[in-house]
Amino acid sequence: MRRTKLFTNTQKQTPTDEVARNAQLLIRAGYIHKEMAGIYDLLPLGLRVVEKIKEVVRIEMNAIGGNEILMASLQRKDLWEKTDRWNDKNVDIWFKTHLQNGRELGLGWSHEEPITDMMRNHISSYKDLPAYCYQFQNKMRNELRSKSGIMRGREFMMKDLYSYSSNDEEHQIFYDSCIKAYHRIFKQLGIGDQTYFTVASGGAFTKFSHEFQTICDAGEDIVYLDKKKRIAINQEVLNDEVLKDHNLKREDLEKAKTAEVGNIFSFGGTKSEQLGLFFTDKNGKKQPVILGSYGIGITRIMGVIAEKLSDKKGLVWPESIAPYDIYLIAIGDVDKEANELYEKFQKAGRSVLFDDREARPGDKFADADLIGVPLRVIISSKTLQKGSVEIKKRTEDKSELIKISEVI
Ligand code: ATP
Ligand code: MG
Repeated sequence: MRRTKLFTNTQKQTPTDEVARNAQLLIRAGYIHKEMAGIYDLLPLGLRVVEKIKEVVRIEMNAIGGNEILMASLQRKDLWEKTDRWNDKNVDIWFKTHLQNGRELGLGWSHEEPITDMMRNHISSYKDLPAYCYQFQNKMRNELRSKSGIMRGREFMMKDLYSYSSNDEEHQIFYDSCIKAYHRIFKQLGIGDQTYFTVASGGAFTKFSHEFQTICDAGEDIVYLDKKKRIAINQEVLNDEVLKDHNLKREDLEKAKTAEVGNIFSFGGTKSEQLGLFFTDKNGKKQPVILGSYGIGITRIMGVIAEKLSDKKGLVWPESIAPYDIYLIAIGDVDKEANELYEKFQKAGRSVLFDDREARPGDKFADADLIGVPLRVIISSKTLQKGSVEIKKRTEDKSELIKISEVI
């Protein structure tokens, strides 16, 4: 991609109406556009990062048997009434709307109810189980506070997977394999060592749910970490009983501010009973299907990484999700050589953002840092005199000259 063709603008000034560092940086660097508090558009650079995060998650979800689907955002009120989650007293973040004929609809903030209803068309016998479906979808939530940029959107992208199992044992096997998949995902996204498997408050069915919490000052959660055992307890459930259950000692725990990047929980058979999803087991007995729900905050993760891995010059993306591998800067009258190099990188399978603008070198360097691509490559008459280009990693200060013939 040539910078002159890329639909983006970088800004020197920090936007004054934005308090969250992640959104300030992402707006300045041209990744997102703010519509209003908690509501952002993805620009080409932002979309590329989101698509890369999705791909890491998708590969892992497919590997544990997930089938990708995409459900509607508009939802039936009657399904949510069956589980008593339509009521604004029980769910306080609904956006609701209505058809022209007055029929009420909800804008999906989660999908347990509609997908469980849909599964009645697919699941009737033990032979149909287990079943695992997931999607990447924009969820709508009328969040009260929206001061955390894309870490708490009123519209945001989530990966949500739903598991349908015939018994608790089968459910637990999948639950555990999903925990492992989540660990692999956060590791690939560059936040593995900062992300803790966390015990949190449960739903109606189980005592606890489990979260994945990433240490982050801009996060909204407080957890207690056991760094050696690599487990955390959300402060909402911290008590003697929980510590004992998990074989932890209060004095080993360290308080930390975190952002919840993932959340998994079990519903047991309750939701299936409420919505009429039953199957016939091997003995011909009718049973409710066991439901599990597994979320990952795709856009929240982008925000957390923007917060955590950035420096005073701008964003710093891990290679796995950077919008481009290389930021190529041409200085002076080196068009021919720069274009050749641009093509050479692409042929070698590297994605390149080529800053071909008529701009001062200093502006190009500043943009390379702000946009945060992992590798900056400079080609100029000076470097060409030595048959070389200058290469610098975003995470390092020192640069080095490398022969053009060896640069790939
Ligand atoms: P929180 O406690 O932060 O409000 P939640 O418990 O409501 O999160 P879930 O309903 O389990 O979250 O959603 C699954 C995942 O979606 C969360 O773990 C989080 O990463 C992400 N998420 C939830 N709410 C938002 C939001 N408003 N903006 C961005 N991501 C979100
Ligand atoms: Mg919430």
